Amino acid sequence: MKIVVTGGAGFIGSQLCEKLLDSGRSVIVVDNFDDFYSRKRKIENLKKIKAHPQGDIVVGDIRRLQSLDELQNEEFGVIVHLAALAGVGPSLKSPSVYYDVNINGTENVLKLAKVKNAKVVFGSSSSVYGINGDTPWKEDCTNVPISPYAISKIAGENLCQSYNFNYGVVSTLLRFFTVYGPRQRPDLAIFKFIQRIHRGEEIIIFGDGTATRDYTFVEDILNGILSAISVNVAEKQTYNLGNSVPVSLNLLVDTIGKVVGKTPKIRYMEMQHGDVPHTLASIDAAKKMLNYAPVVSIEDGIKEQYKWMSKVGVV
Ligand code: NAD
Repeated sequence: MKIVVTGGAGFIGSQLCEKLLDSGRSVIVVDNFDDFYSRKRKIENLKKIKAHPQGDIVVGDIRRLQSLDELQNEEFGVIVHLAALAGVGPSLKSPSVYYDVNINGTENVLKLAKVKNAKVVFGSSSSVYGINGDTPWKEDCTNVPISPYAISKIAGENLCQSYNFNYGVVSTLLRFFTVYGPRQRPDLAIFKFIQRIHRGEEIIIFGDGTATRDYTFVEDILNGILSAISVNVAEKQTYNLGNSVPVSLNLLVDTIGKVVGKTPKIRYMEMQHGDVPHTLASIDAAKKMLNYAPVVSIEDGIKEQYKWMSKVGVV
């Protein structure tokens, strides 16, 4: 049975497709190559998939149901839905586009899943916990989403719930915690810090650097998604995919400095409105139900990302 991966040209999606192909599955990528960041990078990401006999690529926009028409004639049992406008900051500048892609687009994907009787694995985000200060976050704790991005993701989760309840569409919701590693999106902090520290440029840290994040290496996330694809469920289920290790900004920057071989030049500025002091996943549920076991340390993960950034010439 084929697997459809929406957003399959992106950071996480393209590496997922390669892993699926390596394990002998067939994949269909659906992506509109949006201009959130370099289209050239996304085309590069698809190189191996394009060359693989079991890899198909459909250029389509999930906001338009007709874009998905081509898939009506295909046989597939799972849709991994990763296509989205991602990122908290930019969502504050253009919320309506985020709502359109991440909510209306998700509903179109669910409509397709309903017709094809396919299971949906939905790429959600730790941002849905928002300003809930009570970490580690468990899946059933209170969500206090504050950014348009987080709101669009929780709406996507709710749509999955509604399609499960009303039409029996099975879904697994995976809340990813700050993913990094090769092919990372250039808008994300680790990418920018590596670039600037490598070039000897100053970086800005908001707050005193003691804020912590749960950084998760992409390979660990991919293993979690693969388990979610395989596991048999009859209803909607939600899992955190994090590393469950808090890393302070100061430690992150120090680690990047060591890997890159430069002493970071840091300017500390006041924390920004809406910044959360800590993110941390409880991963007990994913461990138990998905055999999820993240293994990559921040040092090793940063080394891998730096190696990739050097190879593709973005440092
Ligand atoms: P990405 O931007 O690299 O990948 C998203 C892909 O979706 C891109 O290739 C883009 O072209 C495609 N896309 C966007 N709008 C589309 C549309 N209208 N129709 C079809 N395709 C469209 O992002 P990523 O970091 O790989 O994130 C993948 C998923 O994981 C997203 O849903 C994101 O919200 C979620 N997520 C990511 C992180 C992270 O740290 N990277 C954390 C939490 C959740």
